[in-house]
Amino acid sequence: MTYEFSTRAIHAGQPNDETTGAVAIPIYQTSTFGQEAPGVHSGYVYARTGNPIRTALETCIASLEDAKFGLAFASGMAAINNVLNTLKSGDHVVSAQDLYGGAWRIFTKLYDKFGVKFTFVDATSLDAIEKAFTPQTRLLWLETPSNPLLRITDLEGAAKIAKRKGALTVVDNTFASPLLQSPLKLGTDIIVHSTTKYINGHSDVLGGAIVTNSPELHEQLKFFQNCVGAVPAPQDCFLTLRGIKTLSVRMDRHCQNAKEVAAFLKAHPKVGKVYFPGLPEHPGHEIAKRQMKDFGAMVSFELRTDAEEAKRFTSNVELWTLAESLGGVKSLLCHPPTMTHASVEPEVRRKVGISDGLIRLSVGLEDSRDLIRDLEQALGKVRVAAAVA
Ligand SMILES: *Cc1c(COP(=O)(O)O)cnc(C)c1O
Repeated sequence: MTYEFSTRAIHAGQPNDETTGAVAIPIYQTSTFGQEAPGVHSGYVYARTGNPIRTALETCIASLEDAKFGLAFASGMAAINNVLNTLKSGDHVVSAQDLYGGAWRIFTKLYDKFGVKFTFVDATSLDAIEKAFTPQTRLLWLETPSNPLLRITDLEGAAKIAKRKGALTVVDNTFASPLLQSPLKLGTDIIVHSTTKYINGHSDVLGGAIVTNSPELHEQLKFFQNCVGAVPAPQDCFLTLRGIKTLSVRMDRHCQNAKEVAAFLKAHPKVGKVYFPGLPEHPGHEIAKRQMKDFGAMVSFELRTDAEEAKRFTSNVELWTLAESLGGVKSLLCHPPTMTHASVEPEVRRKVGISDGLIRLSVGLEDSRDLIRDLEQALGKVRVAAAVA
């Protein structure tokens, strides 16, 4: 029998414990596993290579993405690094320019020195993506909705281009979560997640994941996972599996709250542009409607003011926490130019459209009326330039 998403979140990879009937997966807090004779063992040998609860987590995440294979990591960056391990000197990557700051950093500050070349493009344009390919291009790296401007890439269209050029398409599906978007079904090859965000959902554990349908890719990525050793500890797997069980319930409320917050911001006179794919005027709205089940819970907006005043706004709020990260039950806000995207050079930031007055919200699961009232009082204290007619 095949089960629906919310059933799989609770059951996939998580049968009751065989020996005790425990309904929660046991934690085997062990570094190694005894063998009957050399090479005769339970399937587990050493905990870097595999641990039962990590298998459960990997099985569950793969199932949620309707994929054959899953791998879990100690962080989202470890998962990203693991995919980049498939590259060698001279290889080229076409990447969306509106990108998670840490991904930008590992591309340009670490892999660049190993001779891997990156070209950053406006990934809302299939034409721009296509033009950036070279005969050396091995990967097309996409994030949609993107960070922090919630831009939308047509995944099906982009994957077709990459396939034609002989490259693999990688999608960082962190912002959407497996509930809202299924990139493998749109023809892409590899999905990476920071499970730190919606998948775990409680802002209490770091983790990452890779899923794919290709046995060859999976074997290669699994080999690197064991080589490098950036694997999650058993307790972290346990917590992530606990969080994952409520993913669909949480996402429903996250999305609802975000719609209400976005509508409030749009109507506020001190707010300039509101970036939220659920708004009909968002340039990616139609594509998002087609390739996502709902629009997610990240909302960015511009205060018509300078960086100093925008920073002041972030300390005027009471309920929202000023913090990096996203996807948890507690609502967070941040000032991308001085926080998440501080490692991106100012000229590049401006080029990609991250203005000094930009605020990014991760809308949590509090009562939306409280979230809106708090934004309202904080906006009341902000000094802004006159509205442009
Ligand atoms: C947070 C994040 C990452 C990195 O994940 P960590 O778990 O913090 O290492 C990668 N991509 C996106 C889109 C993220 O939001």
